[in-house]
Amino acid sequence: MTRYDVTKHELAEMMPGEPAYRSEQVWRGLHLGLSAPEELTVLPLTLRGRLGADARLAPGFELEEEAESSKGRTLRWLLRSTSDGVLVETVVMKYRDRSTVCVSSQAGCAMACSFCATGQMGFRRHLRAGEITEQVVLAARACRDRGWGRLSNVVVMGMGEPLANYANVAEAIKRCNGELAIAARAFTLSTVGIVPGISRLAREPLQVNLAVSLHAARDELRSSIVPINRRYPLAQVMRACEDYAAKTQRRVSFEWALIAGVNDGRADSLELARLLRPLAGLAHVNLIPLNPTPRYLVAGSSRRVVGRFRDELLDRGVNVTVRDTRGQDVGGACGQLAGGAQAASIRRRV
Ligand code: SF4
Repeated sequence: MTRYDVTKHELAEMMPGEPAYRSEQVWRGLHLGLSAPEELTVLPLTLRGRLGADARLAPGFELEEEAESSKGRTLRWLLRSTSDGVLVETVVMKYRDRSTVCVSSQAGCAMACSFCATGQMGFRRHLRAGEITEQVVLAARACRDRGWGRLSNVVVMGMGEPLANYANVAEAIKRCNGELAIAARAFTLSTVGIVPGISRLAREPLQVNLAVSLHAARDELRSSIVPINRRYPLAQVMRACEDYAAKTQRRVSFEWALIAGVNDGRADSLELARLLRPLAGLAHVNLIPLNPTPRYLVAGSSRRVVGRFRDELLDRGVNVTVRDTRGQDVGGACGQLAGGAQAASIRRRV
C-alpha cells in the first residue's frame, strides 16, 4: 500500500486522537492540493513529520528518468515502483487548448503486439488503482508547476492492457473523477479488444471514451499483429463495439498504426471502411505513424502513404484523424524507455 491506495476511511484511522477535520485536510491536500503529507503547511509540524514518516503514505513511484521533447511541450517519465522496483512510463503533453496525461495500467504487457516495445518486454504485474491515480496526480502537479494550466484529459494508453486490469483501472478513474475533479468524459481507455471487458465497460455508468487498437480489418493479418485476435476475433470485437456505442451513445475510436507494406494498402483502407460501416457516424479512426521498435524491423508508412490512406477513408465517409505522435525524439513509442532501461539493467547484470 502506498499514498494513493489509502482510502478516506483508512486515512482517518491512521490519525488516532486527531480531530476529524485533520484527515479531511490531508485527503484534500493529497488530491486537490496534489501535495505530499509533509508539504501540507495547514497541519501542525509534528503531525506533518509523523505522516511524512508513515510508510503507508509513502509515494508509490520515484522518478527514474525524465525526458523532454516537442519544444518542452511533452514530458516522458520512467517511474520506478518504490515497493518492488518495476518500471512504468507516463507521458504528459501540453496542447494549445488542453493538457493530457497518458498513464500505464500495467508494468509490461502480456498481449505481445508485434510492433509494440512494451509487448516485447513481457508482463510484470498489474498496477494498483493507487499507482494509476498517482501517475495522474504527478502529471497534474507538473502541469501546475509548469504553468500549463489544469490537467484536462487522461488517456489510459501507456504500458499494459487496461481491460486486463479492469477493477484497478475502473477504481482509479472513479478516484480521479471524484477526488481530482477530472470529468469521466475526459478519460479515454484504449484496449486491444478484450471483448468481455468492453461489454462490462458498456454497463458501467462511467461515461469514458473507448478506443480500440485495431491495426487490421481481417482476422489473418490482425492475428499476426495483435495475437489476442485469435481469442477475440474481429467479428466479436466489432459486435462488442456496436453494443458499446448503442448502450452509451458514445463514439468509439479505432487506432490504426500504419506499417509500411503490411496494413497501408488500398485493400486495407477498403476493408476498414467496410468493417466500420455498421457503426456509421459513431466510429472514428486515428491513424498512427509508427515508431520503429527493436525487434520489429518493418518501417512505419511514409507521410505520403499516411495521407493517401487518410484520403481513401475520407472518400468512403469514415471520420479520420492522423495522430500527433508526441515524444518520438525521446525514447519513441510506449515501452521504449522502460525497455531500454530493462535491457540496460540486464546488460549490467551479465
Ligand atoms: S500495444 Fe498495448 S496491448 Fe499491445 S503489447 Fe503494447 S501495451 Fe500491450
